[in-house]
Amino acid sequence: MKIAIIGGGASGMTAALTARESGASVTIFERMDRVGKKLLSTGNGRCNITNKNVLEEKDGNLIHYYSDQPDFPRYALYNFNHLALLNEFSKLGVLFRCENGKYYPYSETASTILDVMRLRCERVGVKTICGAKIEQISKNSMGFDVCGEKFDRVIVAVGGSSSPHLGTDGSGYELLEMFGHHRNKIRPAITQIRTDNTLTRQLKGIKVYANVTLKQNSKAIRTDYGQVMFADYGISGPPVFQLSSGVRDGEKFKISLDLMPEFTHAEIHENIRKIIDNPFCNDLKADNLLSPMINKKVGQIIVKYCQIPLSTSADNLSAREIDRLVTTLKSFDLEVLGTKGFQNAQVTAGGILTKDFDNHTMESRLCKGLFACGEVLDVTGDCGGYNLQWAFSSGVMAGKAAVL
Ligand SMILES: Cc1cc2nc3c(=O)[nH]c(=O)nc-3n(C[C@H](O)[C@H](O)[C@H](O)COP(=O)(O)OP(=O)(O)OC[C@H]3O[C@@H](n4cnc5c(N)ncnc54)[C@H](O)[C@@H]3O)c2cc1C
Repeated sequence: MKIAIIGGGASGMTAALTARESGASVTIFERMDRVGKKLLSTGNGRCNITNKNVLEEKDGNLIHYYSDQPDFPRYALYNFNHLALLNEFSKLGVLFRCENGKYYPYSETASTILDVMRLRCERVGVKTICGAKIEQISKNSMGFDVCGEKFDRVIVAVGGSSSPHLGTDGSGYELLEMFGHHRNKIRPAITQIRTDNTLTRQLKGIKVYANVTLKQNSKAIRTDYGQVMFADYGISGPPVFQLSSGVRDGEKFKISLDLMPEFTHAEIHENIRKIIDNPFCNDLKADNLLSPMINKKVGQIIVKYCQIPLSTSADNLSAREIDRLVTTLKSFDLEVLGTKGFQNAQVTAGGILTKDFDNHTMESRLCKGLFACGEVLDVTGDCGGYNLQWAFSSGVMAGKAAVL
């Protein structure tokens, strides 16, 4: 059995190892000069490889994965789950640490994961051809032709459209489209959000903890809590990444930041009163009013947002002005202009439609012997190790089935 794997990323290398260890002769074709380049950038260079909540469900649905066919990833994730993944690396001596459910190699470096995979590929005899961008796969009664070589099976593991500098510019979809597969509309996910920056650029570099809600027509679409960073283009940070896949071109959205999620309106109100009534704070002005509670610069921007002059004496603030400050602290709204695009996105939401693939084997229903795995398919995970887990799980399924 000769198998060609197009793409030497996380899913391609996993499929290659699985197929090779089941006895097949395997060749990886990778367009970059080395396999696994993207892996080195994952998790800010630390590689957030998986998450303890991979199989978390609500009402019978996996809650960390998105697809036009939400049930598609279930089989692979159950049959090669986060524990199986960690165990596979543990067998080779890799240690892990878990931070809030997210697993990272104990070494704190993504190269630990890549080195182990590359070495294992070498040892078991996976052939790797780098600098080979595949633009054509032909099929005849004898099998497939890739780069003038005959193969019995082909596994397409070319990733999506995000981070094109790492080899994934979206051109790989065509390798499946030429066999009649279709893709839905793709969008950048796990990326920064561009907003009206009149205020955010004045807060550039400042980090705050907030509940971040993406809203459309005043309706909350999704909320996430965590550290948000202000930037000259808008906002960034884990909760922003999480919401970014919900931003669609041509539609209007708002981001609402609750800058004090642990406190109610009434509690914040009472606290502002305490600050104003503090007998040790003579001649307190609006520009310093909020600094006992939140970052001083953020406090000043909130005051400005409420159209209160910074030089206003705190004693002279009306009840309505104080109410406005409290409301803004609980709901600091920014108009969304878009995301930072595929260039900066960690993953691609959407992809090749899964309805034409068997989710037990990852084999195409339109072309026998053709398989796909990883991000090229319409399966997207949340930020937090869910996407690599999908790449590994689907890679194992494809690698196993391709040998049969
Ligand atoms: C900066 C960054 C940080 C990330 N951090 C995390 C994280 O911490 N945790 C997590 O779970 N996920 C993370 N992700 C997402 C995760 O890396 C991907 O979802 C995952 O790598 C997808 O694996 P894949 O094998 O499907 O595709 P990829 O890893 O993208 O691999 C596809 C490979 O195919 C090659 N290729 C493409 N087209 C061709 C062609 N025509 N011919 C030959 N080769 C081709 C590409 O060069 C590439 O090497 C991150 C992504 C980025 C960009």
